[in-house]
Amino acid sequence: MKTDTERKLRDFLGARTAKTFAEVLGIETVGELLRHYPRRYLKKGELTPFDELELGDQATVSGRVKKVTVRSLDSKQEIRPDEIGRFRRHRTITKVVVTDGRNDLELAFFNQPWLANKLTPGTAALFWGEVTKFRDILQLKGPGTEILDEEDLSEAEIERRARPFRPLYPASAKLPTATIERSIKIVLDSLDDVEDPIPELILRKEKLLGLRDALQKIHLPETEKDWDSAQRRFRFEEALVMQTVLAQRRAVTDSLSAIPRARTTGGLLDDFDARLPFELTEGQAEVCEEIFADLAREHPMHRLLQGEVGSGKTVVALRAMLSVVDSGGQAVLLAPTEVLATQHHKTLTKMLGELAEEGMLGGAERATRVGLLTGSLNAAARRAAMLDAASGAAGIVVGTHALLEDKVQFADLGLVVVDEQHRFGVEQRAALSQKSGDNTPHVLVMTATPIPRTVAMTVFGDLAVSTLTELPAGRSPIKSSVVPAKERPAWLERAWERVREEVGKGHQVYVVCPRIGDDVKNAADEEGEFAAGGEDADAEAKGKPRPAISVLQVAEVLEQVLAGLRMEILHGRLPAEEKDAVMTRFAAGEVDVLIATTVIEVGVDVPNASTMVVMDADRFGISQLHQLRGRVGRGKVPGLCLLVTDSWPASKSRERLDAVASTTDGFELSRIDLENRREGDVLGVAQSGRRTSLKLLSVLRDEDVIYTARHVANSIVSVDADLAGYPELRAVVRSALESETTEYLEKT
Ligand code: ADP
Ligand code: MG
Repeated sequence: MKTDTERKLRDFLGARTAKTFAEVLGIETVGELLRHYPRRYLKKGELTPFDELELGDQATVSGRVKKVTVRSLDSKQEIRPDEIGRFRRHRTITKVVVTDGRNDLELAFFNQPWLANKLTPGTAALFWGEVTKFRDILQLKGPGTEILDEEDLSEAEIERRARPFRPLYPASAKLPTATIERSIKIVLDSLDDVEDPIPELILRKEKLLGLRDALQKIHLPETEKDWDSAQRRFRFEEALVMQTVLAQRRAVTDSLSAIPRARTTGGLLDDFDARLPFELTEGQAEVCEEIFADLAREHPMHRLLQGEVGSGKTVVALRAMLSVVDSGGQAVLLAPTEVLATQHHKTLTKMLGELAEEGMLGGAERATRVGLLTGSLNAAARRAAMLDAASGAAGIVVGTHALLEDKVQFADLGLVVVDEQHRFGVEQRAALSQKSGDNTPHVLVMTATPIPRTVAMTVFGDLAVSTLTELPAGRSPIKSSVVPAKERPAWLERAWERVREEVGKGHQVYVVCPRIGDDVKNAADEEGEFAAGGEDADAEAKGKPRPAISVLQVAEVLEQVLAGLRMEILHGRLPAEEKDAVMTRFAAGEVDVLIATTVIEVGVDVPNASTMVVMDADRFGISQLHQLRGRVGRGKVPGLCLLVTDSWPASKSRERLDAVASTTDGFELSRIDLENRREGDVLGVAQSGRRTSLKLLSVLRDEDVIYTARHVANSIVSVDADLAGYPELRAVVRSALESETTEYLEKT
């Protein structure tokens, strides 16, 4: 049997209207229509007879148009309705005289000359606005209008339309908001009661409106309080559904089994600690203990480790991996790019020294191997790496996501560490589980992008969170400045001098550009999120932004400006061996200046690099700049970051750059960043252009609601994981799972 909300719209509306809803909004059922909430509400005054209008009132009147005139404010001449097109560029005033049969009222509209063709004499309409007087004539200021058809002129219909608040729906020309409003009214009127996904008890405890009542009040509010309380209810519902999905997922995770990898003593980890050239920070030590405790459990760990750029996440991860190796298992380190995977492989090998030289001359007594597996290895190297993984000879394997897709087998995979990567979702987890038999590996996800708590609770809702807040002592501060190249060309010259001076002191420099520049037409390259796509040569002349500065352009210019320095370029479209070779030479100090795209954004660690020049810095996001900047000031050398831009002072983009230059506090910057972005972006949904099923809930603003809902969801799921006792909630959760919600939960 179908519940009321699952019934088809065409049972309620005409077949044509129902079809339009399906085509334009993808709405087919009563439930879907009722969840098409108003975008906002139009506030009207009370419906008032003409002779009762009082100065200063917000009022609505119903009347007929008596006379319309349009006048140009530029040429002062009157414009006939059929000439409006010719005066398109003029500022205009349209005066409409309206009558109720006895009294007149005047309305003035600015720059809407086309109204003259709609409000023709004789037209019946509602008008609303503030009552004012001009030269003894009563006027409505800032008037709104709604034209009435002749069949709308019943008193009841006029009353209805003159409601104090009118819902405005996300609408289109084919499906205007008035049609949506009328349809919703029809559907609501024929709906007795609806099953509420929020359990009665919780409605009462949280003082929330029931579903039927809330639907009425969100679509047809009488007062502001109506829509307020209705929205509060729907926000809670969205949070509850989302948190129920997450609570169920946690329950599933908790029911999975993993091999406990308890910390043992006298193994590789102790040997490693003994040769560590520095003390762990307090934070690192604490987080390691959290991780060891997780690893010792019989259920898989799912932990998010967040920490500023340079906070030392790698050591934490390596200690966790070694602990797993000590207990007889293997660990994988997944990196988002080949450059980074290669870099990690080197870092780990170097940090481990002889501990990574199992079976080799000079290897320590107790040792393991660190394998590298990326998509671009040649067949022989690949075979060897796969063999090491499958035989267990490699205790640690570093690689890109190719590692997941491939037929790579492990002897005993115990831990997966995912670096700088938010897109590690349920599917990838499943892929990895299959590599370790019935036992699911423990998972540690690392990120340098600080994530607000509510986002961690939603997008990363099934991960426990650890945070490294302090930077290791002795880290050199980074100084950042904005270089306004257009206003102060001399500053840019000075910047290049600085580069030369730094190189003179034996340091190295990154120059980062938003674009590769090898193919202007197809510039939307893999790193080039901000790349300009396909501009014509004369784009700038047409007022379009010029294409972003490219690696190849800069390389050409610097050939001259920095003649004599050893320069190389690096970007995502170079062949893998070449990328690798360039990075190796840079790390070895054989390259002075590296001109690169954002391939160097994450993880690259060359302590001798002191300076970074970011070209067209305004084309990067705040968090991205912060990430990039983290590549310098990693050693004893003080870091310097120069943000070169053509943006003007006090412009939005310049403000962002000033913010980046003014602080190195990643959490502060991520707050600024989030404020400047829309909700969808935060969830990573807007980019893919998808709808989310979050309509009213904001993961940034509605922290309290999310906390409460999380608590409620946990208590429901802990006693009734299948929601057998909550059929309505189960139905809504299921449809949310089928819709885009899961897409973002899993893919973000
Ligand atoms: P991130 O968190 O950005 O990945 P890394 O793990 O790459 O940071 O660490 C940055 C640098 O700091 C590395 O060179 C690392 O060896 C060093 N480092 C890590 N922990 C400490 C510490 N406790 N004391 C001093 N230096 C450290
Ligand atoms: Mg790192």
